Amino acid sequence: MAESLGRLITDLGERSTYDAVSQCSRCGYCEQACPTYVATGDESKSPRGRNQIVRLMLEGKLNDTTYALEALSTCLGCGACTTACYAKVPVVDIVLEGRRMLKGETHWLVRKICRVMIASPKSFAVLLKIGFFFKKTGLSKLGRPLLRAVGLPVLAAMDEHTNEAPLRNLDDLTKKRKNPETPAYRYFAPCGSRYLYPRVGTATMFALDELKGKGAYLNNPCCGLLAHNYGELSDARELAKKNIEHAEKNGAEPIIGDCSSCVAFLKTYPQLFLKPEDAAWRARAVAFAARVRDVIEIYGECADQLPLNVAAGVATTYHDSCRAINPQGIKDQPRRAAKRVAGGSYCEMAGADACCGGAGAFGFVHEELSDELLKTKVGNAAAAQAGLILTSSTSCLIQLARGLRKYYPDAKALHLSEFVAGALEKKHGT
Ligand code: SF4
Ligand code: SF4
Repeated sequence: MAESLGRLITDLGERSTYDAVSQCSRCGYCEQACPTYVATGDESKSPRGRNQIVRLMLEGKLNDTTYALEALSTCLGCGACTTACYAKVPVVDIVLEGRRMLKGETHWLVRKICRVMIASPKSFAVLLKIGFFFKKTGLSKLGRPLLRAVGLPVLAAMDEHTNEAPLRNLDDLTKKRKNPETPAYRYFAPCGSRYLYPRVGTATMFALDELKGKGAYLNNPCCGLLAHNYGELSDARELAKKNIEHAEKNGAEPIIGDCSSCVAFLKTYPQLFLKPEDAAWRARAVAFAARVRDVIEIYGECADQLPLNVAAGVATTYHDSCRAINPQGIKDQPRRAAKRVAGGSYCEMAGADACCGGAGAFGFVHEELSDELLKTKVGNAAAAQAGLILTSSTSCLIQLARGLRKYYPDAKALHLSEFVAGALEKKHGT
């Protein structure tokens, strides 16, 4: 069994995982908010069902691990259930605890990736560049059957779902950037913006420099979310400690990131350090988390500084990243910015806050279910006649871009940073 947290931070305070899951009264109020329950009608794929499975596991009363694994592995981790729940039962953390209890050993590939990210981020960047080179030449497409044959279908799906293959990552693009002595903010580079969508990272820094004053590139390690959700807690903790130490060395300015999944995780670092012997680290994690901001919060606060109506003409809508709207409660701020720039061209689509099916690695592992959720999302965008869908997490960006290519090529997807940066550029006439 993999290490589990054992204790969680809930709305009622710190609780054992068992006490946290016992807060579920089985009322079922969350059921219709759960995308996997709505799509399948299967109680075991609902928040209430998943809670009961983990509770039975903790009580030693559930022996059918295949059933439990299917129920827990198909959870998107979107957190829509907790938003709907009056008791704010932390279903995502409970599900992750259940997965850790079921897991023998972490998949060797996940462990390897996490270890390389910890020990040698530069080697990780080089490996990605090699992979992207193969993608650019079309060779990776030929290699997909081989990847599937050797038990790595996730890598084949990743290659298939992603259209990006930048050979220059954000570190390369920011090499000449001079960090000011007293920066207005520190930019936290999530792996998605750093390696796959460096154009998002450059857009974020350009927009923040304009709105907040010149900031600094933090040059941080990975946040540890991959290890937390799919790997070993010890790896997630190691990365969290590195990030905390790194940020402490660099002053006390706000730390701003542009992938809502990573940002939401950074804000939960204290939960990694609940053991009595980790008290000192917990205090440092609390101080670190208090500095962390999602860039879309900033765009909302600075909306009045954005140029009015400069992107009018293309019907523009907004897709909420689950990790922004649910655990972080960010809903109005990005819309304020998008409406300011798009003017009368802004439109809401139905189900804007419903998961698109990307959800980290979910889209690569549960392709059929993910595709069903994606079709609904794209259908809603098409019904709103949107030509542009904005969002705030790179996982959503991969998924939306794939869905639009497949089902609605009239529209495209952008990160809100790209939209805001484009508007600011227009203001300067560049
Ligand atoms: S998670 Fe909350 S809303 Fe859902 S069944 Fe349990 S108590 Fe009810
Ligand atoms: S996190 Fe999302 S998919 Fe998982 S149980 Fe909650 S609503 Fe359903």
